[in-house]
Amino acid sequence: MSSQPIRIAIVGAGPGGLTLSRLLHVAGVTTTVFERETSSTERPQGGTLDLHTESGQHALARAGLTEGFLRIARYEDQGSRLYNSDGRLLLADDDMTGDRPEVDRTALRDLLLQSLPPDTVRWDRGLSEVTRRDDGRYDLVFDNAREGPFDLVIGADGAWSRVRPLVSLYQPQYSGLTFIEFGIDEVDAKHPALSQLVGRGKMGAESAGRSLIVQRNGNAHLRGYAIFRVPLEWAERRFDVSSPSGMRQALLGEFAGWADALLDLFRTSNDQFALRPIHALPVGHHWTNRPGITLLGDAAHVMSPFGGEGVNAAMLDAAELAGHLVGSPDWREAVPAYEAEMFARVAGPAGEAAEAAATELSHIGQQLTLAQHQAHMQMRAAADRSAVR
Ligand SMILES: Cc1cc2nc3c(=O)[nH]c(=O)nc-3n(C[C@H](O)[C@H](O)[C@H](O)COP(=O)(O)OP(=O)(O)OC[C@H]3O[C@@H](n4cnc5c(N)ncnc54)[C@H](O)[C@@H]3O)c2cc1C
Repeated sequence: MSSQPIRIAIVGAGPGGLTLSRLLHVAGVTTTVFERETSSTERPQGGTLDLHTESGQHALARAGLTEGFLRIARYEDQGSRLYNSDGRLLLADDDMTGDRPEVDRTALRDLLLQSLPPDTVRWDRGLSEVTRRDDGRYDLVFDNAREGPFDLVIGADGAWSRVRPLVSLYQPQYSGLTFIEFGIDEVDAKHPALSQLVGRGKMGAESAGRSLIVQRNGNAHLRGYAIFRVPLEWAERRFDVSSPSGMRQALLGEFAGWADALLDLFRTSNDQFALRPIHALPVGHHWTNRPGITLLGDAAHVMSPFGGEGVNAAMLDAAELAGHLVGSPDWREAVPAYEAEMFARVAGPAGEAAEAAATELSHIGQQLTLAQHQAHMQMRAAADRSAVR
C-alpha cells in the first residue's frame, strides 16, 4: 500500500465487512465500519454457517483468528439427513470428520468485533447515499449524519447495498423461492424426538411442491426453513408473521399429509417467525471499476443460499481485497485487480447456487439432493480408502 495513509470506509458490519476491517487492522491499516444496526445486540444474527477451509477458514487464519474460531466451531454438527414426507429416512450421513464445521452467526460476529480496536464500528449509521466531492473523494450520507471525506468506500452492506448503485444498475431479482424461518428452543431437553430426527447437523425433506430444511444451531436450538416456490405476494398474504399461532396453522395446512414426526417441528416452534424471500444478482454480475468505490460479499454477488457459499465468498473477498490493498504500492490499482479476480472466482459458485435454486422443488428436486449427498459420501469414502493405502 502507498506510504500516504488513505481514509477507508467500510459500509456494513456483516461477516464480510468485519473480516476486511480486521485483516487491514492486522496489516496496520485503519478503517471505519459504518453499520445500520444500533448495537451489536440489536438483533440475533441468524442461523448456523459452515465455514470452508479454502475461504471462510482461510480468511480467519489470515486474520489471526483461528484459535478463537476453534473455540466456537462445532465440528460435531456436520451430519446430514434426508427424509421422505412420510417420515422415512432416505439417507443418514453421520460422519463428523469433515472440515466444514458449523458456527453460529452471532458467535462469528462477536469473534470479529472483539478483534477490532474499540470505535472501529460506528453503530446506528444507516447509509442512505454516497456523494462524490469535487476533489474526487466521497462523503457518506446517513439518516442522522454525514461523514467524510473518504478515499475508498467499500460496500459490504449486503443484498440491498446502498453503495452498489454507484457502480452497477443491477438489483437482486426474486428467485421464486420464499423461506419461512422458524425456531425450536431447548430441543434436547424438551423435544428429544425432534432432536433425534434432526441429528447432529441438518435435515431435509421435499415432496409435492414443499420442502423443509432444519439445522442444528448451538445451545440446543433448531432453526428451520419451510420452502415454497410461490409469488412473493402470495407468501405475504398467506403468512402473517405477527401471529405465531396463525403461522403454525398456516404451515400445518401447507404441509398437510406429511408425517406427524415432521409436522411436530411446526407444532413445537417458538414465536419467532420470519419471511425470507430469496433474491439473487445475475450470475456473472460485474461492473466497470470506478476509482474509490468497490463492493464485496452479498453487495457484489448475492446468491441463493443453496450450497452455503455466501458467507464463505464474502470472507474470501475480504481476504483477497485486503491482500491486494496491502501488497500493492498503489491502492488505485489494487482495487480493480481484486475486482477482476473476484468476478472470475464467484461466477462458478453463483452459477451452482442458481442451478440449485432452479431445481429446488422441481419434479426431480429430492432425487437430485439425494444423488448429490450419495456422490459426496462416495467421494469421501474413496478418499478415506486411498489415505489408508
Ligand atoms: C435464509 C438464508 C440462509 C442462509 N444460509 C447460509 C448458509 O448456510 N451459509 C452461507 O454461507 N450463507 C448463507 N446465507 C447467505 C449469507 O447470509 C450471506 O451470503 C452473508 O451473510 C453475506 O455476508 P455480507 O457480510 O456480505 O453481508 P450481510 O451478512 O448481509 O451483512 C451486511 C451488513 O450490512 C448492514 N447494512 C445493510 N444495509 C446497510 C446500510 N444501508 N447502511 C449501513 N449498514 C447496512 C447490515 O445490517 C449487515 O450488518 C443465507 C442467506 C439466507 C437469506
